[in-house]
Amino acid sequence: MAKESKENDKYDKRLAAVCGLFCKSCSIYIGSTEDPERLKPIAAGYGKKPEEIRCLGCRSDVRFIYCQTCKLDKCAAGKGIEFCGSCESYPCEDLKTFQAAMPHRIELWKAHERIREAGPEKWYAEMIEKYSCPNCGTINSTYDFKCRECGASPSCAYVAEHKEEIVLQLDQLKKMK
Ligand SMILES: [Zn+2]
Repeated sequence: MAKESKENDKYDKRLAAVCGLFCKSCSIYIGSTEDPERLKPIAAGYGKKPEEIRCLGCRSDVRFIYCQTCKLDKCAAGKGIEFCGSCESYPCEDLKTFQAAMPHRIELWKAHERIREAGPEKWYAEMIEKYSCPNCGTINSTYDFKCRECGASPSCAYVAEHKEEIVLQLDQLKKMK
């Protein structure tokens, strides 16, 4: 049974990132809002304390250290556009490099298409569907193969569709280190 539509499922622009990522399904965001334990290993990887890597969304006042230095966001602001997909240079080399670097960006091109065609609110609602556990409705990240709440597997439609590619990309990233 999916959870009934909740107040916090409403469109929140702070969680619709310039680059086309959906902040609610980000591990850092989940860790910052609901699950502080998951920030510990990530923070350790950056040589930081968990509280130093908190993030409340791309367009919020509390941003992950990586997102604070985001080129895409500064570039879009300079051009006066809300999302990379509405840029005349889309898809630029910077965005292509960004897209290819991590498996939670597999659907980035699709995201920009949807934002352009259907608008950010509709896309946002679709992302909630995409990342919600089919069993309990909890929003999971790309890296939660099992639901972080009830353990259902796969945790959401994104993982169901892309698990093989996620595993492959993570494996390649490990080898690059
Ligand atoms: Zn679940």
